[in-house]
Amino acid sequence: MPKRRESVRWAFVDYIPTDLEEGTNYVAAEFGAVVHRCLEGCGEKVSTPLSPAQWQLYFDGETISLTPSVGNWGLPCKSHYVIHRNTVIWAGPWSDRAVAAAAHSDRASVERHFAPEPLHASRRSYIRQVLQSCFHRR
Ligand SMILES: [Zn+2]
Repeated sequence: MPKRRESVRWAFVDYIPTDLEEGTNYVAAEFGAVVHRCLEGCGEKVSTPLSPAQWQLYFDGETISLTPSVGNWGLPCKSHYVIHRNTVIWAGPWSDRAVAAAAHSDRASVERHFAPEPLHASRRSYIRQVLQSCFHRR
């Protein structure tokens, strides 16, 4: 039975190294890349990219916090935890339904964040409609 970690260290790096030490959260801030080995002990590489729609990292000068939680439902261990001030808070296992819901909301928020074009396009067409209704009175 692999040992679960109670705490993590952090390392701010220019590039994520290929050899990752267990229990260390590597942060390549310039690329918004945050990578660590699964804290449940299986050692799988876990990537939590930073973006408004994905993960946010808080650094208070001494400790890091990562939000939202890290749900490794893609890994055999299906571990789920929160990193708060270098402390690992273990969350419950994911039910299949929770996994599906989280995957769905992840996808939706990522799509919202990375697909601004359709919003702009629809706003343009809305403005065009308003203008047309002003200038082309029936
Ligand atoms: Zn794991």
